[in-house]
Amino acid sequence: MDKIPVGILGATGIVGQRYIRLLSNHPWFEITEVAASEKSAGKTYGEVMKHRWKLGGEIPYEVRDKIIKECVPKLDCKIVFSALDANVAGPIEEDFAREGYIVISNARNHRMDEDVPLLIPEVNPESLELVEEQKKRRGFKGFIITHPNCSTTHLCLAIKPIHDKFKIRKIIVTTMQALSGAGYPGVASLDIVDNIIPYIPLEEEKIENETLKILGKVENGKIKYADIFVSATCNRVPVSDGHLESVSIELENKSSMDELIECMNSFDPLKNYGLPSHVKPIIILKEEDRPQPRLDRNLANGMTSVVGRIRKCNVLDYKFLILGNNTIRGGAGGAILIAELLKYMKMI
Ligand code: NAP
Repeated sequence: MDKIPVGILGATGIVGQRYIRLLSNHPWFEITEVAASEKSAGKTYGEVMKHRWKLGGEIPYEVRDKIIKECVPKLDCKIVFSALDANVAGPIEEDFAREGYIVISNARNHRMDEDVPLLIPEVNPESLELVEEQKKRRGFKGFIITHPNCSTTHLCLAIKPIHDKFKIRKIIVTTMQALSGAGYPGVASLDIVDNIIPYIPLEEEKIENETLKILGKVENGKIKYADIFVSATCNRVPVSDGHLESVSIELENKSSMDELIECMNSFDPLKNYGLPSHVKPIIILKEEDRPQPRLDRNLANGMTSVVGRIRKCNVLDYKFLILGNNTIRGGAGGAILIAELLKYMKMI
């Protein structure tokens, strides 16, 4: 099979590096282009990344000698994965979509646009219906699909089967988010060593708003937001990778503990699609002191939401912890799964 040529915008950043690692040797996609800011453009990827590669191991051989391009829609590829800084991502992604590229973005800029899918493949594939309207309305030859915020991704993945079966009314979530979530260089070491920062700009709003769009329903070509109250508190903690989320939920239709666990455990809507990045989307750990970021963030290749400590809540109905790898399922890996779904659905 000929592989589909893909480019990475923001290939030098923390999420960009994840794309490089996950896409090298991908069975369906081949990295043909890497792009970043004008300060990186014109040099080889290996040269620019010599002191910036943060994933350990070697920079994959096939991209080392590639010349980094500027983020303009003249790249030799069909799909662009955007891991661009949100300060610049919005108009660049539109330029690419206008010229016929399929843009799959990790940046926040277009997530809440009414004609742009905010997609988690297992949760709301029906949101792909918005694509035709987007192309028509904006005169795009291609289209934009967005991937949710990293904490929102794991929250929605873990609670989707509960919401489908018992209807969630209220969610209170407190996050303990890893440093890699802030990109590179991110948070200054003197601010975070021996410390917790109880504020991440815009993060609480993203979780509260994106969750309602993702768990909403598509009706007459538009998304009707879910009718759930969400309250989020976000903290930056001195952990390198893996966001931990402490969640309490109230249900409209009451459920037993066994029913709750069973519906999460059996949730696997993509299991027969044959997508290369597919894993079981929720793994439940039984040990009383898990999940933990260092121990559990790479379970199932970092593509799963790890749930633990499911117990009764004295204020709402149930409470539990979710651990999610922020740069893999919450970033590059989640977006690659979107591209695989698009290929499966013959949208590429
Ligand atoms: P990052 O490490 O700061 O990387 C930012 C990238 O954007 C770099 O490749 C940078 O290129 C490029 N860039 C900056 N200014 C540019 C410009 N004017 N023109 C073209 N490229 C430019 O950030 P990150 O953590 O990888 O995050 C990337 C995006 O994904 C952000 O929108 C972020 O919110 C989102 N996200 C991050 C995570 C996570 O866990 N980190 C998870 C989900 C979503 P240069 O190196 O050339 O400056």
